Amino acid sequence: MSECLFCMIDKGDLPAEKIYDDANIFAIKDINPQAPIHFLVIPKKHFSTILEIEDDDHNIIGSIYSVANELARKNGLDKTGFRVVLNCGVEAGQSIFHIHYHLLGGRILKWPPG
Ligand code: AMP
Ligand code: ZN
Repeated sequence: MSECLFCMIDKGDLPAEKIYDDANIFAIKDINPQAPIHFLVIPKKHFSTILEIEDDDHNIIGSIYSVANELARKNGLDKTGFRVVLNCGVEAGQSIFHIHYHLLGGRILKWPPG
């Protein structure tokens, strides 16, 4: 998967502002932020979409929420509110086919997202 943007960032082959990194997960600042705080929390294992997640992967996916919580707290979003969202497939707006969880906050977020 060397052609995958997020696999390349994970390996250090492409620059990005990493704000979290452990054995299974990393997080970066979104290059085109849609809110004052817009991070991407990304499993290192390459899943093109959530449809590829299997039972053995549940620990990794569960850890995504621990990382999102930590980053939300560090940025004061636990006091105001925030959104964790994942787009699956073209009609949902997924543009990078290596799953990533958007962590958005720092402004009032509209619902439905459109
Ligand atoms: P999605 O449309 O849900 O697949 O989200 C892809 C996200 O990745 C978008 O919010 C982009 O702004 C973001 N993005 C694309 N390239 C980069 C990059 N090199 N570094 C950080 N974020 C990126
Ligand atoms: Zn990948």
